[in-house]
Amino acid sequence: MSTTLKRQQMFIGGDWVESSGGDVQEIINPANGKVIAHVPKGTKEDVDRAVAAATKAYDETWFDTTPRERSEALLKLAAAIEAHGEELASMESENVGKPLATTLSEEIPPIVDCFRFFAGAARLLEGKSAGEYMKGFTSIIRRESLGVVGSIAPWNYPLLMAAWKLGPALAAGNTVVLKPSEWTPLTALRLAELAADILPAGVLNVITGDGEPVGAGLVRHPDVAMVSLTGDVATGKEVAKAASATLKRVHLELGGKAPVVVFDDADLQAVIEGIKIGGFFNAGQDCTAATRVIAGPKIFDNLLGDLVPAVDSLKVGDPKSDDTEMGPLVSEEQAERVTGFVDRARKDGAKVLTGGARIKRAGSWYSPTVVVPSGPDAEIVKREVFGPVVTVQRFSDEEQALEWANSVDYGLASSVWTRDVGRALRMARRLKFGTVWINTHIPVINEMPHGGYKGSGYGKDMSMYSLEDYTQIKHVMASLD
Ligand code: NAD
Repeated sequence: MSTTLKRQQMFIGGDWVESSGGDVQEIINPANGKVIAHVPKGTKEDVDRAVAAATKAYDETWFDTTPRERSEALLKLAAAIEAHGEELASMESENVGKPLATTLSEEIPPIVDCFRFFAGAARLLEGKSAGEYMKGFTSIIRRESLGVVGSIAPWNYPLLMAAWKLGPALAAGNTVVLKPSEWTPLTALRLAELAADILPAGVLNVITGDGEPVGAGLVRHPDVAMVSLTGDVATGKEVAKAASATLKRVHLELGGKAPVVVFDDADLQAVIEGIKIGGFFNAGQDCTAATRVIAGPKIFDNLLGDLVPAVDSLKVGDPKSDDTEMGPLVSEEQAERVTGFVDRARKDGAKVLTGGARIKRAGSWYSPTVVVPSGPDAEIVKREVFGPVVTVQRFSDEEQALEWANSVDYGLASSVWTRDVGRALRMARRLKFGTVWINTHIPVINEMPHGGYKGSGYGKDMSMYSLEDYTQIKHVMASLD
C-alpha cells in the first residue's frame, strides 16, 4: 500500500469500522492501473448505522453548539488540512491521477479556504429583524439547521467536493454522513482521521461503497433531512425521484457543457491560454470545463491555428513530475467512455485535429483532443464528455452564438470573450448558465456561488447562498398580551 491512510475502514460515530457485509473494494491508481488500497464496501446496514450515529450527534451535541463553537471547529479542521496539505495532495494525485504539483497549488488552498470561509460565515448567519406584522403579535424569524445531511460526492475533485459540502452543512449546525465516490474515497477517509480529534463523535461520518446501496440508501433513509449530490445528471434525476418518497430536501450539482463564446474582437492569446487551462485542467474532468468553443467567423481559423499547437504542447505524463500538466483519466471506464465519444464523432463526420486516441501505456490515458464537429447538433457538442476533448464551432452572428451556447440541456457555466463591454454584458444577461465568465474561464472563489441552471441541477455551492441552502426558516409568533 503506498497511501498514507492509516486506517482503511469507515468512520461511523467516532469509530473505525469494517463493512457489516465484510466485503472490500479495490482502489486503483489510474496512472498505472495498480491497486493502492482496499476500502470497505458499505451496505444498507452501514447506512443505517451512520445515520443513527449522525442523528445521535445532532440531538446530543451539535444542535446545541453556538455558531462560534462550530466556527472554531471548522478553523481547526482548516488548519489540520493545511498542515497535511502535501500528504492529502499526494493521496489525491495517486487516487485520481491528478498532477501532484497543481493539486497542491490549486486544490488544497481553496479547500482550506472553504472551511475558513464557512467558519466565518457561520457567525454571520442571521434571520431578518423581529417585528409586529399583526397588531399585538411579535414575529421572529429563526434560521435553523436541518438535522442529518447525506453528502454524496463525485470522483473528479474528491476532497474539494467534500469541502464544498461539509463546510456549509457543518457551519449551519447539521451533522453529516459523507459518501465519497467508490473510485476515490481515500482523501475523505483521511479527512475523517484529521477531524476525529476536532469534531464530536458522529458529527462527521464517512461511509464507502457504491451508489446503490450506500448513496441511494442515504437518499431513501427517513432520518436524513437533506441530500446533497454532486454527480451525473442521470444520478441527479434518480436522487430527486427517490427523495420525493420522504420529501427530503435535495441539493444537486450535476454535469455541465460549458460554451466558450469567442467574438472576432477577442484577445486571441488570452483565449488560447484560457482554453488550454480551462479545457484540459484535471484532464477535462471538470463540470465547468471550457469544452465547447463557439468562435466568430473571422477569428475561427486563427483560433484553430493557435489552439492545436497549444494543446499539443501540453505536458502529459507522470502525475508526480513537477512539469506535468495533464495526467490520466480517473479510470479505465472513463477512458473508454471518452474513446466512445470521439470515435462516434469521427464516424459522424467530425474532424479530429489533434489527439483522438488512447495513449499506449499502463493506466487510463487519453490524448488531449481538439475536434471540429459535424454540426451544431452533434452528440459531441450536446453531451458532456468529461475528458480532455474540446470542440470548436464557427458561428455567423451574435444571435447564432447565443442560440448554440444555450442549446444544451446543461446550464452550469459559460464564458464570453470580447473587448466590447456592451456585448459582454448583453451575452451575460442572456446566457442560461449559473456562471458567466467574461474574458476568463474556470476561476471560482469561496465567497461567490457555484451552481446550475436547467439540467445542471439546483442549489448553490460555496458562498452565503450555499450556507442558506443548508438551513430552514422557522416563523415564531408571540402574542403580546
Ligand atoms: P456519478 O453520478 O456517477 O456519481 C456521483 C456520486 O453519486 C458517487 O458517489 C456515486 O456512488 C453516487 N451515486 C451513484 N448512483 C447513485 C444513486 N442512485 N443514488 C445515490 N447516489 C448515487 O458521477 P461521477 O461520475 O462520480 O462524477 C462525474 C459527474 O459529476 C459529471 O457529470 C460532472 O459534471 C459532475 N460534477 C458536477 C459538479 C458541479 O459542481 N456541478 C462538480 C463536479 C462533478
